[in-house]
Amino acid sequence: MLGLPEMMVYDQYAPLELHSQAMPWGDARDLVLESYRAIDTQFGALATEFFDRRWIDAEPRDGKRGGAYCSYPTPKLHAWILCSYTGTPRDVMTVAHELGHGLHAMLSRKQTLFNYHSTLPLAETASVFGEMVVFDRLVQRETDPRIRLNMLAGKIEDSFATVYRQNVLTRFEQSVFSAREDGRLTSRQLGDLWIAANRAYYGDSVTLTDGYRWGWSYIPHFIHTPFYCYAYVFGQLLVLALYRMYKEEGQSFVPRFTELLARGGSDTPEALLRPLGIDITDASFWQKGLVELEGLVSQAQVLAASLYPRPE
Ligand SMILES: [Zn+2]
Repeated sequence: MLGLPEMMVYDQYAPLELHSQAMPWGDARDLVLESYRAIDTQFGALATEFFDRRWIDAEPRDGKRGGAYCSYPTPKLHAWILCSYTGTPRDVMTVAHELGHGLHAMLSRKQTLFNYHSTLPLAETASVFGEMVVFDRLVQRETDPRIRLNMLAGKIEDSFATVYRQNVLTRFEQSVFSAREDGRLTSRQLGDLWIAANRAYYGDSVTLTDGYRWGWSYIPHFIHTPFYCYAYVFGQLLVLALYRMYKEEGQSFVPRFTELLARGGSDTPEALLRPLGIDITDASFWQKGLVELEGLVSQAQVLAASLYPRPE
């Protein structure tokens, strides 16, 4: 689709053509609220409060810090959201994402300060779920197949980066710590282990450059929070599987999902997920998440085949 004879590692996140028009803030608000209302009236009401009570700082301004986050320091205070909205589909989903954190926080306010924040693997549950609901709506509304493909490609890249690539990082870390038992490691050995872990993922689909041997050195988690990256895999795949359950079971899924969020960090992920009928040691549950991902890939493949026919 990019028209490249050889796909290099630095090409993998190159965007397809961008055609989408900027969505005004008011339309983004309506779309996000519509999506949360479609999940449940309580979700809709809580989300509305964030907009009506001006708990979202979305205006881009000189001197404002970048990025996006939701702050919810204690259960005594409501949550606040910071982002800088510029009207891209990605920004719409960022608002949906941060709002998911906000709803998660508001629902778990009945917990004590110590149980209020969810544990790391469950921290992205509401945010990524809300993002998926808004994403599906955005894709459905889009009439231009090129923009639809562009949006799907972005979502697939993000999901692969989380579900598979964070696994590569974790496998690399495991191999480093196990090799370290036999002695100190040189940067050359670290590079070898890094390339080996990445080869297993990319196979022959992407060419890794010589400079990529140093790729391990730009991941701050390896130094500051060792063995953190698995939580991204767990969280993303969990939400994809939960989203699949929601699509299969419909509204009857929502009360159990709400209760999961309301319990904050009051128990282990395993115990918190059990009332939803989920056994996290059962591979077939995780498979649901991969099936959801497969669905995105097939949609993209159908669009790509018609928009970018093979030369020959
Ligand atoms: Zn998040």
